[in-house]
Amino acid sequence: MQQTNRQWILKSRPKGTVSTDCFELKEAPMPQPDYAAGKFLVKNLWLSYDAAMRGWMSLKPSYMPPVDLGDPMRSFNVAQVVKSETPELPVGTLLQGMYGWQEYATASPTDMVPHRKLNRFITPEMALGVLGGSSTTAFWGLMDIGKPKKGETVVVSGAAGATGSVAAQIAKLKGCRVIGIAGGEEKCRWLIEKAGLDGAIDYKNDDVDERLKELCPEGINIFYDNVGGSILEAAINSIADYGRIVLCGAISISNSKEPRVGPRNLVNLVIRRVRMQGFIALDYYDRTDEALAQLAVWAMEDKIAFRNDVQEGFENIPSTFMRLFEGRNQGKQLLKLADPEPTES
Ligand code: NAP
Repeated sequence: MQQTNRQWILKSRPKGTVSTDCFELKEAPMPQPDYAAGKFLVKNLWLSYDAAMRGWMSLKPSYMPPVDLGDPMRSFNVAQVVKSETPELPVGTLLQGMYGWQEYATASPTDMVPHRKLNRFITPEMALGVLGGSSTTAFWGLMDIGKPKKGETVVVSGAAGATGSVAAQIAKLKGCRVIGIAGGEEKCRWLIEKAGLDGAIDYKNDDVDERLKELCPEGINIFYDNVGGSILEAAINSIADYGRIVLCGAISISNSKEPRVGPRNLVNLVIRRVRMQGFIALDYYDRTDEALAQLAVWAMEDKIAFRNDVQEGFENIPSTFMRLFEGRNQGKQLLKLADPEPTES
């Protein structure tokens, strides 16, 4: 086995727009697991890119501590156990966990986010993609916070992305009329032709406020928001009486240098008796199997159109992250480092 471990470490915190300059390539000694402490060594095979990672680079108080400068950037991964004395995690086991932007990592069952073993019928791409954290986020955000009812009008922003595309399609499966908001003609076409939505708004070329009024004449019952900013404000203008606003994320303002003034029309929430609620998917982590049981059935029945956007190569790890903020990802952004080593069983 090689003696060194390549890592992309966090070199500096972004001031405004995140860039590849925030990261630096470093060669560290190969980590040695402390078996007595229940640790084992994993080799990273696949990296998941999540818009939330931008928040982990910042010192702003959050639901997770920030990544320390000099540490490998934090990420969700699929990895394979390569050294272990833990009987239930023999060499060859495939795991999902937070192992960061590095080739190898030591891990233990008491990691901040506990690992999950990959079911042997699930590929790494599926585990991080259609059955990954973005999909379970969409599931809990829509089902537990939005609580869709048949016949309601649901609008989803960031609708062609990993989280948004699944939220929008679950709403369709629940019998709702669904409008997606996304950047560009191609993504909007995908929303109608492949994801089966009832309407799409291209926020880069359309007047979102006007289009929402046209497409949702009775008002929006649920707005599932991934982007915040002016799109959230436009949705609040069209919210229906007793509407629900699910605050999943605010990628449009995550690169802002200064805190932004929020939507200027919050009084509409009073007039329309609207509930607006944020949520963090990790709060539902213990209930992942519940969400996956349903998502797996929909995926097997081809009821959810899902795209994985797969990049490759260790050297491309930081530049691939930028794709999320430039809207260049076509669905779930992943990066492949290696195939799993075959095991005997
Ligand atoms: P994603 O949607 O697959 O990719 C990010 C997308 O955001 C891009 O493809 C781009 O799509 C859009 N975007 C980028 N800059 C934008 C801007 N200025 N205005 C409008 N849209 C912009 O990424 P994801 O990881 O699934 O994350 C989506 C959202 O879910 C994020 O806000 C994230 O923080 C949130 N999230 C929240 C939780 C939670 O626990 N609350 C968990 C997971 C994810 P376009 O081409 O359409 O612009």
